[in-house]
Amino acid sequence: MIIGIDLGTTNSLAAYLTADGPRLIPNALGEVLTPSMVGIDLDGQVLVGRGAREFQVLHPDRCAATFKRNMGAEWSTQLADKTLTAVELSSLVLKSLKADAEAYLKQPITEAVITVPAYFNELQRKATMRAGKMAGLDVRRILNEPTAAAIAYGVHETDDEKIIVIYDLGGGTFDVSVLERYEGTLEIRASAGEIFLGGEDFTNTLAARILEQRGLVFERAEIEQPLLVSRLRRECELAKRQLSRGEDAVVRIPTKTGDLPDDAPRITVKREEFERWTEPILSQTDGPLRRALGDARLKRQDVDEVILVGGATRMRAVKERVARLFEKEPRCSLNPEEVVALGAAIQAGLIARDATLEDLVVTDVAPFTLGVEVTHQFGGENREGYFLPIINRNTTIPVSRSKVVGTVRPNQTTIQVSLYQGENRRVEGNLFLGEFEVEGIPRGPAGESIEIRFTYDLNGVLEVDATIVATKKRVSFVVTKYAKGLSDREIAKAILQMQALKTHPRDETANRYVLRWAERVYRELPLHERQFLERLICGFEEAMELHDQAATEANREELERFLKQLDDGFENSDESF
Ligand code: AMP
Repeated sequence: MIIGIDLGTTNSLAAYLTADGPRLIPNALGEVLTPSMVGIDLDGQVLVGRGAREFQVLHPDRCAATFKRNMGAEWSTQLADKTLTAVELSSLVLKSLKADAEAYLKQPITEAVITVPAYFNELQRKATMRAGKMAGLDVRRILNEPTAAAIAYGVHETDDEKIIVIYDLGGGTFDVSVLERYEGTLEIRASAGEIFLGGEDFTNTLAARILEQRGLVFERAEIEQPLLVSRLRRECELAKRQLSRGEDAVVRIPTKTGDLPDDAPRITVKREEFERWTEPILSQTDGPLRRALGDARLKRQDVDEVILVGGATRMRAVKERVARLFEKEPRCSLNPEEVVALGAAIQAGLIARDATLEDLVVTDVAPFTLGVEVTHQFGGENREGYFLPIINRNTTIPVSRSKVVGTVRPNQTTIQVSLYQGENRRVEGNLFLGEFEVEGIPRGPAGESIEIRFTYDLNGVLEVDATIVATKKRVSFVVTKYAKGLSDREIAKAILQMQALKTHPRDETANRYVLRWAERVYRELPLHERQFLERLICGFEEAMELHDQAATEANREELERFLKQLDDGFENSDESF
């Protein structure tokens, strides 16, 4: 069985295809959303998901989140005594999803389809594949998130031609893609986005406005009173969700130490107020929308369907704005946080040739312009460093395009082919992808022709061929710069290193999580209320220590009930599903 995985910035999900359609796979805690967070707890063991999220409140220096933003970059973070890259952190999340899928489906899972944003470049796609490999998964296909969302809505099942816009506002990123459906094909015509725009900005703005009313500046308060701000943010997150359902919400103001005593001041926020405060954030989604439609040479009126993806699209203002812009109600009947995983599961099922679905051709786009460095002549003088695009941004892939370049000096027998990705005229503003040399060019005057062909496949792998036109001599190069460390030996080494990281047995996940949760709540309780909780925690720890499973479970349940009561239902606040 091949599973579909949405490896998200905030949350990750796994799903599989059944005869009745795609189904989400619950994790060890029985939940379908696994926070994309990793922590190393005090005994050096790895925590993934909700356990890590709880642990982070008290030990932010031992936890990592939002590392998807650093996929493919030369980036790493120090957690306790371990240095981990974004690929390694992602592989830990994938490993946890794989273990959950194996436990749930009662079979080994070794293959997956993993989704990535449409704008992910070479490096980021390779990095995602590498994370899969490290987690013991053969990544059968890297699928673009908007394509997955459209598949989840069954867009591929009808024959009509149409233009679909996928509007994806997640926790921290905004992506918009324009898809065209025709003759059994689903094609991404264009995509655009902002990597720092999402639901969290709405929460922060709400928190900032509330602090402002109390004479505080958000940025300063974050440094001077971090406990107040982090607790207030949680209150604002709740309020934001409440405002997706009702007309007002109450926010309690925590103390400087992050506590919420019974007499904590309360502020009522009206939806209209919240929308006014956050309008500038929402209006930032217009730019990428305009860019994507422009790239696809389409107007708003040409759009037949709009699909909402990402938790933040539950906000009414988002739905209303999109409906106004496109003069039609957006599709949002599926849970916006689950659609991508569901689509990935359908694609996984198609790959596995599951007979329940018709075949489907999915085409994608090259998210950035790809090309080579060339020299321009100005008044007889050669100036290096110019970018010659070969495959234009938003060209449908797979694609193969070529351009002919010439030597610049007489008797020049070699040329250096330097590959770049980006939208700048000069290569220095673009991303260097790699270079290779072509030798054996026949001597002669300048201008000897060399044909450079770029072939970009569905997995985002770029192959470049340079052919000396006169002699037909050809040199090929596959872009592997980002695959640095992709050599089998290096991957094997990384896998070994990752194996050395100890992870709690899966059946302990719930215990770890409840313990972290209890520690966090304990910290937030006023001193005189801690005693009872302390007793419950001790009872639970003792049962775990004695490996008494029945007692552990009984104690855990009691503790959980108590924590739920104390925690104002924050963790269960998603009644809007
Ligand atoms: P995602 O990255 O798709 O999981 O989306 C996470 C974002 O969605 C977070 O910023 C959440 O605050 C936001 N979100 C989830 N549920 C709601 C809701 N009911 N109303 C408003 N925002 C929500």
